[in-house]
Amino acid sequence: MTAIRLTVLGSGTSVGVPTIGCHCDVCTSPDPRDKRLRPSVLLEYDGRVVLIDTTPDFRQQMLRLQIPRLDAILYTHSHADHILGLDDVRPYNFYQQGTIPIFAAPDTLEVVQRVFSYIFATGETESSRPRISVNRLDGSPFDLFGLEFQPIRLKHGRGITLGYRFGRCAYLTDHSDIPPESLAQLRGLDVLFLDALRHKPHPTHSTVERSLQYVDQLAPRRAYFTHISHDLAHVQTESLLPPHVHLAYDGLVLEISNDPPIDLIKLHLNQPTSEPSALTIGNFDGTHLAHQQLFRRVARHGRERQLVPAVLTFDPHPTQVLSPDRAPKLLSTHPQRAARMADFGLEKVFVIPFTKELSQLEPRQFIQQILVERLNAKLIVIGANFRFGRKQAGDVALLKEEGVRLGFAVEVVNEFVHRGEAVSSSLVRRLLEKGDAAKAARYLGRYYRLTGRVVAGFGIGKEQTVPTLNLDWGDAMLPRNGVYVTRTTCVDTGRVWQSITNVGVRPTFQGEALTVETFLLEALVPPSPHRIEVEFLHWVRAERRFADPAALKVQIFRDVGRAKSWYRHADRAARRVH
Ligand SMILES: [Zn+2]
Ligand SMILES: [Zn+2]
Ligand SMILES: [Zn+2]
Repeated sequence: MTAIRLTVLGSGTSVGVPTIGCHCDVCTSPDPRDKRLRPSVLLEYDGRVVLIDTTPDFRQQMLRLQIPRLDAILYTHSHADHILGLDDVRPYNFYQQGTIPIFAAPDTLEVVQRVFSYIFATGETESSRPRISVNRLDGSPFDLFGLEFQPIRLKHGRGITLGYRFGRCAYLTDHSDIPPESLAQLRGLDVLFLDALRHKPHPTHSTVERSLQYVDQLAPRRAYFTHISHDLAHVQTESLLPPHVHLAYDGLVLEISNDPPIDLIKLHLNQPTSEPSALTIGNFDGTHLAHQQLFRRVARHGRERQLVPAVLTFDPHPTQVLSPDRAPKLLSTHPQRAARMADFGLEKVFVIPFTKELSQLEPRQFIQQILVERLNAKLIVIGANFRFGRKQAGDVALLKEEGVRLGFAVEVVNEFVHRGEAVSSSLVRRLLEKGDAAKAARYLGRYYRLTGRVVAGFGIGKEQTVPTLNLDWGDAMLPRNGVYVTRTTCVDTGRVWQSITNVGVRPTFQGEALTVETFLLEALVPPSPHRIEVEFLHWVRAERRFADPAALKVQIFRDVGRAKSWYRHADRAARRVH
């Protein structure tokens, strides 16, 4: 898909700026950016026009920008400043000779249908009325003209509103709080819109300060604040914001790139020099909490100093070349790692083929030829025990010394300790070997996951016990043999199922080959997934041999019961948090 062009139609709060009857500096400001219609944005992509909210200023907004067509409307919630312009879609009905689909949560639709009851009334009428078709959102992502939209649940005082994520952009207006499960849906963004009414706290809206905290936490490349009151003067407020954060204004146009969030670049010694970069170096297997700390710092420095936030990593893992018999099974593939790095705002991953020759480079050569000449590193963020070059002779002290001479800064990050343990890939591997999926997740910062194709398997599950999805997990490390509570996601469509997974050799069937078999806790509505991701949430029991398939089947139903109660409990716990 081509890029998305986003236009801010309105950036003001519910009464607009200037506000009727007010003579304050902002309401009387000559700066056009201090004139704010009610909040709405327009998206254009692949010749389509999609609108978020029909404000009371809708007619004026569309006239002002001479928007020739309208293909769909998404609603965030039912407050008057977001819906009242709906009647003015009629000209688009005339020109386009068709209905316009609207998308909203059920409670929003209910209000729209009440407020605009004449639109939905059946029977003949003498006057024209909008022709729209209604689409109910249940929180799942949906496709609109080839672009996927993910609704994001937000708290708006005591109410709920929807934000929308599309590609690498998210538009969130009218929120006081963003619940944790929604924050998790907002990683790896190019552009993030947030509510920032004013500085003073407000029961149903976020403030500049609160939204700056969200920006810090989510690390989008650029952030824009909207739903702004007359408390905030544009120029003065901008001067207080960090360089990648802005106040939105009416008429602002952004191009949002839909490029893959991160570039995986194979690095060769004759590669031309890259743009100036902020860099961290390592294998980053598992992209666990200690790694994430490095990623966050690199991303922040990149933004602040206008450097490309990047990673230098090795393929294969150096131990696979230097001492293959000691080489560990890996927790993640390069694409999985790169996707995770993008979540933290990194933009490039340089993968250097690790060979015996590379391992012979003297530390000073490594710095000169790779870090300086190829990667143009201006800042290197590194763990305190980082070693590099021939015989691992290079260390942080040498790196710093060479940095002074060659013009790059070095920031050293101490060992990362979480719940009393130094976080490392081998710690995570040890926990998975014990089957302790829950504890491994604490150090990974999310659940351990295997991704791959669904393979037919042996069919025994289907005929004799319960239907299963067999996973081809590639070379990834398997957790200890046994049964786990899992969550299964279809990689291609994003469908998610609660599940249990058996890792093992199927002793009841005299099996020898290892398999990873997943049983969904709910019926599988076709189509069957081709590629799945299985997340290991919780250990249930060790693998064991049963007298016959019937006994195994009884045990599997028992396992299913345990998994269901685990999920119910997790659900309640999640609700308590919010
Ligand atoms: Zn509003
Ligand atoms: Zn005012
Ligand atoms: Zn509202």
